[in-house]
Amino acid sequence: MILYRVNNTHEPKNSGYAGVEVRVSKEDFIEWFMQRDFEGCSVDRINNHGHYELPNMQVIETWRNIAKDKVKIKGGNHWCSRCKKYKPKNEMVKSSKRKLMGVTTTCKSCDVKRRRDRYSRYSEEQKEKNRQRCREYYYRKKAEREAAS
Ligand SMILES: [Zn+2]
Repeated sequence: MILYRVNNTHEPKNSGYAGVEVRVSKEDFIEWFMQRDFEGCSVDRINNHGHYELPNMQVIETWRNIAKDKVKIKGGNHWCSRCKKYKPKNEMVKSSKRKLMGVTTTCKSCDVKRRRDRYSRYSEEQKEKNRQRCREYYYRKKAEREAAS
């Protein structure tokens, strides 16, 4: 997988690997990895701009690895991975599933757009189903609150 990405930097999604070298033999890598392997893990370069060499490698949870690539802060501004711009922190979405280390990777205007785009793809039938689900959720919560009080 690593070799594939490094050797295929012409593919847009791998472009971040341009100039990255693999400085570890397959045998050494396997031995190193076998001692650290766990379910849902992926190999991370500690320094994202460094090469694949053992001192610069660690095994971390895949989700953490993905988020690490996305969370970027420069001069107090946060990187929005959607509009590809640095924005002040108060323009970033506060809480989201994508939140990591207290930082989100989506700005407010992109988040609104994302939700609108997703919603506009729904058919009328799906929208009605959604509304129905919201109503059910509301009434269930209401019933729970009443039962608790
Ligand atoms: Zn944005």
